[in-house]
Amino acid sequence: MLLYGRTNFEQQCDLFPGNSLAEVKISAPVTIPCSEHPISQAHIDQNALKVLSRLNEAGFDSYLVGGCVRDLLLGREPKDFDVATDAKPEEVRRLFRRARLIGRRFRLAHVRFGREIIEVATFRGMPKPVSAGPRQTVEGRILQDNVFGSQGEDAIRRDFTVNALYYDIRDHSVIDYVGGIDDLSRGLLRVIGDPEVRYREDPVRLLRALRFAAKLGFKIEPATAAPIRELGRLLLGVPPARMFEEVIKLFHGGCALQTYELLRHYRLFEYLFPLTEEALAIERDGYPLTLVPNALANTDSRVQADKPVTPAFLFAALLWEPLCRQLETHMARGHTRHEAVQTATTSVLTQQSQRIAIPRRFSAVVREIWMLQSRFNRRTGKQPFRLLEHRRFRAAYDFLLLRIEVGEERSDLGDWWTRFQAVEEPERRSMVRKLSAGRKRVRKRQRV
Ligand code: ATP
Ligand code: MG
Repeated sequence: MLLYGRTNFEQQCDLFPGNSLAEVKISAPVTIPCSEHPISQAHIDQNALKVLSRLNEAGFDSYLVGGCVRDLLLGREPKDFDVATDAKPEEVRRLFRRARLIGRRFRLAHVRFGREIIEVATFRGMPKPVSAGPRQTVEGRILQDNVFGSQGEDAIRRDFTVNALYYDIRDHSVIDYVGGIDDLSRGLLRVIGDPEVRYREDPVRLLRALRFAAKLGFKIEPATAAPIRELGRLLLGVPPARMFEEVIKLFHGGCALQTYELLRHYRLFEYLFPLTEEALAIERDGYPLTLVPNALANTDSRVQADKPVTPAFLFAALLWEPLCRQLETHMARGHTRHEAVQTATTSVLTQQSQRIAIPRRFSAVVREIWMLQSRFNRRTGKQPFRLLEHRRFRAAYDFLLLRIEVGEERSDLGDWWTRFQAVEEPERRSMVRKLSAGRKRVRKRQRV
């Protein structure tokens, strides 16, 4: 699936090695016949079916694989449909007019159908022995080149057993090399192979473990869970651009609140948002001072209702507390509020971007959402009319409501703005007049 740039797999390609699996014995697969599982062809994407049939007709083996098979077995709607095949990328390209090869070291094909892309990956195998031994990053992440392999090899290079199932459209069977079906029925998330080694190969798997546990409502199998806390620091070695993609998947998947709780429980959150983690240590009335859980719950309901969500809103909320803290420091140094907001915003976004590269088109909106917050309190003359016209009004207003929910602003301020948007122009003018006439400036904890 295309997110905000490169695809999942394209990114994994360079980070998806498997020398740790050299010792993992590939057992004969278990085949679950059509009559013993609930997948029906009717639930499979038409374009994915076309790709599979064409590959099979050309004499290749091809299967649905990964998250889509897992989700179909669970009776959920898959986000995207991935195909694994023994056809080489060039062979795939020749079969499909609309195929494009991507990836540097491990190439795979994207077959495009309008806006939809079906990702077709050739089975991946064990990397050839590297004469100089496995290359490692400073953090101990193992890097290797990728090679093509058999279906069994492909299965054991995947991350979790429930993500390594194949579906064959020829006889409608499910093929399982790693006990994925059992784990699926028991609601268990289990790493394939030695968890610690697999996490070291690709630390993003730490995040994926929590994401799937939250999304599927699965328990993390003890050996899979055991090293997570300890290895969190490996996330520091993941390129910030890949981290951005992962963070979006963590928080825009419909289970953000639960994922956040798991991230904090396993102490991974501090590697994603160190400034926020620091701010969370500060409590008010015995509770951490934060609107993050409310923001995430809000995002979850939007995702579940199929409403649009934007990374800008997410980052504005996740980084709000650090912003407020830095703002106070700058104000204490005698900066005007406007200067302080500018400086603190730049500083928070710059520090955060060392961990997670927030593309400019989103960070610019984060900045605007923050900058607009103080303007909600200025409700005289033309000011509220101008604010209403601002292209980020809606996002900033939603953010104001979040702040009100946690007691940062009075709820009558939110009510006023809700009504101001809803009524016609003459009534708006009268609202502003009334306010200017008998206005007592009562403010509660106004920070920006
Ligand atoms: P989602 O529903 O979120 O898309 P998914 O399981 O399909 O979940 P993807 O990121 O789309 O996840 O990846 C597709 C498949 O590729 C996975 O199911 C898994 O088999 C394999 N995979 C992805 N990332 C990794 C990784 N980092 N290490 C090993 N295997 C991976
Ligand atoms: Mg997927």
